Amino acid sequence: MTQTLIQLDGSLGEGGGQILRTALSLSMVTGQAFRIEKIRAGREKPGLLRQHLTAVNAAAEICGATVEGAAISSRELTFSPGPVKAGQYTFTVGSAGSTTLVLQTVLPALMIAKEPSSLTLEGGTHNPHAPPLDFLEKAFVPLVNRMGPTIHLNLERAGFYPAGGGRFFANIEPEPKLTPLHLPARGALKRQLAKAVVAALPGDIAKRELAQIEKRLGWTGEQLQIRQLPQEWGPGNILTLEIESENVTEVFTSFGMKGVSAEAVAEQAFGEARRYLACDAPVGPHLADQLLLPIALAGGGSFVTYDLTEHARTNIQVIQRFLLVRFEVIERKPEVCEVKISA
Ligand code: AMP
Repeated sequence: MTQTLIQLDGSLGEGGGQILRTALSLSMVTGQAFRIEKIRAGREKPGLLRQHLTAVNAAAEICGATVEGAAISSRELTFSPGPVKAGQYTFTVGSAGSTTLVLQTVLPALMIAKEPSSLTLEGGTHNPHAPPLDFLEKAFVPLVNRMGPTIHLNLERAGFYPAGGGRFFANIEPEPKLTPLHLPARGALKRQLAKAVVAALPGDIAKRELAQIEKRLGWTGEQLQIRQLPQEWGPGNILTLEIESENVTEVFTSFGMKGVSAEAVAEQAFGEARRYLACDAPVGPHLADQLLLPIALAGGGSFVTYDLTEHARTNIQVIQRFLLVRFEVIERKPEVCEVKISA
């Protein structure tokens, strides 16, 4: 079979790893081969890092692809997919690189496959600059499940940067015909929860983060929770702020880092949550860029969001190279817009 090769420029827009991951996902789904040059040209360490290479290899294994250029630091890659084979797979990022991004790469093809899949993912589960597992569980997956598939995530062990060593499982009951998703409004506020998680670090860090959230957001009592993870999972610290409304749950995360005070960590998540609470859009900036692909696969849908990122705009351009879909970004209020996707 002769295939047209889609040519992609990895320096497009913000020039990150998403261009490659979206191309891999949609190449698996559509059977269209692609070649990408200047991979992650906009990043400090351009080319394929371990996490991206794991995503390439995972995608290739699932669809029996022929790949050229799959090596650490490679800036060019050619990917020619074969048919997708659902089943049992284990993917290991040999570092603290993000396993959640590896899952998001292969999920689109597996969630519309004919058979179920179970995946084991090993590496980082809570990484800066990637969706933390809690975000996938609470925010992203419930919305994708509403479109038809049944995806279950199960964390066995958290993996923090820089040690990694985490593991989680993803069970995917597919639905070949996705239902469009429309998220025009958040609905009534149901629950707000701050969770400070520490492993192999003093519990005082978590207490101080929550004290800052209490001061800034006025959340109290049951709304403030500390989780002390087993010593050997650390060192690690994250603070997640969950805002559950009738139609959507949003999760804002900040990561503890050496040399950054607990209060400063709390301020970062607080800043994101405050922005969300200050407008009535249901979808925050990270969820917005991650919903584009599943909704495009469903052939339609819409959501209201704010501060539409360069990341999301770049993703729209890459999706349109593979799928015949139309995206409209309609400004509803200053900085609040509705994204409409149609076939
Ligand atoms: P890239 O920078 O191109 O590798 O893409 C990173 C991906 O991770 C994007 O889809 C971001 O929306 C997502 N991401 C980064 N930080 C977070 C976070 N704190 N919560 C949820 N998603 C995130």
